[in-house]
Amino acid sequence: MMIRENIKEKFYDCHIHIPMQSINPVETLLKEINDNDVDGFVLILNSAREEDMYLDHLEFLNGHNYKIALLLDIRSRNGIENFDKLKKEGIEYIVKIHPRINCITKDDFKLVKEQLGYLSYRTIIVDNWFFGCQIDNHIGTELAIYLAEELHEKSVVIAHAGGCKIVETMLLTRPLKNIYYDLSLTQLYFKGASLDLDIDYFVKWTSDRVLFGSDYPDFSISDSWLSFRQHYRNIGMMDKLYDSSELARKIYGLK
Ligand SMILES: [Zn+2]
Repeated sequence: MMIRENIKEKFYDCHIHIPMQSINPVETLLKEINDNDVDGFVLILNSAREEDMYLDHLEFLNGHNYKIALLLDIRSRNGIENFDKLKKEGIEYIVKIHPRINCITKDDFKLVKEQLGYLSYRTIIVDNWFFGCQIDNHIGTELAIYLAEELHEKSVVIAHAGGCKIVETMLLTRPLKNIYYDLSLTQLYFKGASLDLDIDYFVKWTSDRVLFGSDYPDFSISDSWLSFRQHYRNIGMMDKLYDSSELARKIYGLK
């Protein structure tokens, strides 16, 4: 599929996972990347299993323009050591924090900051998708604000841009210049719902901070991109669409 309207533009997917259910996860991933002509991507590893899969297949990704985001598991004794494996391979990493997966509550914010202090990174991704009954863990917005204020030399990307609370997320985090948003998942999950209009509104007022992400394999890269592009078309701001590519380069250090 032809993903660009202007061939000179670069196309980055800032939220991709390894399709672990596939028989050949890394080959399947690369096929999706190549079929969609992706110029660069951020591969998010949410578990030690995914990290091992990645490290075992490093050579397959040689020559690709990508960065790795690894989950910081504040509950695990190996939380920091997992990053050392990447460091040993000379791989620059992004830190991913997932309050729901790791049961992070407001009481843990200082611990998160303390553990980040052992790591060497420039960007943090905080998951902020409101789902499930563990309400104490629905603190993605608060955690992103806390980290953006405490670590103002770092960039903090809010993954899924707050999901069903996208407008609230925008309003609460707007004053913080080091907060950015990736629209993965939210843009397709709510397709056809009234929230679709909120996403238009969100993009209109936040276009200088929005990143494209597909959340592949949950959604295909092409479906996500068509949806992302449609929001810019809806608000008559197609000229701003590719600013997000520049932003991806800046935030994640992609080429
Ligand atoms: Zn994801």
